[in-house]
Amino acid sequence: MKLTIIGCTGSFPGPGSPASCYLLTAHDGTRPWRVLLDFGSGSLGVLQRYMDLKDIDAVLISHLHPDHCMDLCGLHVAVHWDPEGWGRDRVRVYGPADTADRMADAYGLPRDPGMREDFDFRSWKANEPVTIGPLTVTPYPVVHPVDEAYAFRIEGNEILDGRPVHSILTYSGDTDECPELIESARDADLFLCEAAFQEGRDDHIKGVHLTGKRAGEVAKVAGVERLLLTHIPVWTDHSTLLEEARAEYDGNLAVAVAGVTYGVRSGERIGDPRTASMARIPESLARALQEAGVRLRPIPGHRGTAENPVQPGPHDPSP
Ligand SMILES: [Zn+2]
Ligand SMILES: [Zn+2]
Repeated sequence: MKLTIIGCTGSFPGPGSPASCYLLTAHDGTRPWRVLLDFGSGSLGVLQRYMDLKDIDAVLISHLHPDHCMDLCGLHVAVHWDPEGWGRDRVRVYGPADTADRMADAYGLPRDPGMREDFDFRSWKANEPVTIGPLTVTPYPVVHPVDEAYAFRIEGNEILDGRPVHSILTYSGDTDECPELIESARDADLFLCEAAFQEGRDDHIKGVHLTGKRAGEVAKVAGVERLLLTHIPVWTDHSTLLEEARAEYDGNLAVAVAGVTYGVRSGERIGDPRTASMARIPESLARALQEAGVRLRPIPGHRGTAENPVQPGPHDPSP
């Protein structure tokens, strides 16, 4: 499985990243499957740098805070009003029981049908796995101030080069420390875990988010291979949270970076599709981005430079 960070800024989009959205790809030996973990504010636009929206196999919503679900409103327009017709099945959307009604309300649609003509809404049942192509997703109820919030344990049973490959990704969603979170992350190859709070500043607030320290504690107890911290708000220094987590967890540790693709099993940064995608951005836009101070990074090992980002990239996030 490969995990591409579409958005990872905590609680609302930041200047360098949308709010929570992660593109997970897995190959069943016949075709790649593409599943989105959350679909927070700002993610719909960036996602189109990496894939055709029509290739979304499912959207998995962890909970109904806007930084995790609000761009379903935009996707509804993309599906419903495509002048050439969507031409695909309805998009499967797994989420809390209220998802369909809340999205209809957000858009100002009547709840019936709401967005049901475009989305095939399915409700999570705690601890009951669902199968999506080569993926088995189990939602674990976690602790966050909403009616339903889940962490996802995602087991990939892929066929790569004719051989079966098994790997486990756990995504925390938003949560504080709890036994279910530890259970969801047990022996995971990669633990994508939120760390929205900071010790000494927010650690007195319980039942909402993890600090870097608490994320490190969960990773240690769960025995994960790798910990990738995410959902860090704009007002928090990444290195502070890394140090907090490092004091508790001595495994492979990093902060998620928007635009980067990680191998779930290897933990390696196997591509930087954001940079690669610049090749698909019109030159005028690339120039405007640079003039606005957006830093475009070269691809390691390639001759692209910050001054000339329009270099074809080596990596396609789809297998
Ligand atoms: Zn959040
Ligand atoms: Zn939340």
